[in-house]
Amino acid sequence: MNIALIAHDMKKDMMIHFVTAYENILKNHKLFATGTTGKRIMEATELKVHRFQSGPLGGDQQIGAEIANNRMDVVIFLRDPLTPQPHEPDIQALIRLCDVRMIPVATNIATAEILIRSLERGDLQWRNYVKKN
Ligand code: PGA
Repeated sequence: MNIALIAHDMKKDMMIHFVTAYENILKNHKLFATGTTGKRIMEATELKVHRFQSGPLGGDQQIGAEIANNRMDVVIFLRDPLTPQPHEPDIQALIRLCDVRMIPVATNIATAEILIRSLERGDLQWRNYVKKN
């Protein structure tokens, strides 16, 4: 599966805890991230991450393009709902595209945990079918 990992600044430590806790699952998948999130993940773990631009510089839009092209299977986007973001329209567009493409998207850690466990159980195998067709 292709998994996108994005965390706003206030949520980056939480993302690092998450990827560390689930490194054994994540290492079996192809990982993508916005610039700074990806850098932090690679510094903290052995995981390999394809990094796009930083979110405010277009990274969310680049991940959105992957979703639009049906190349992303799961999105874990730890958003900070309490801080205004200069790229709010990009964030909304990314989440909208997840709904357009029916991509499982977690926007907080509680849902992210559920999503990663169902990924491990194989609950998202239907994505392989969708991608082929
Ligand atoms: P960053 O981008 O990983 O480069 O910080 C995340 C975002 O703000 O959308």
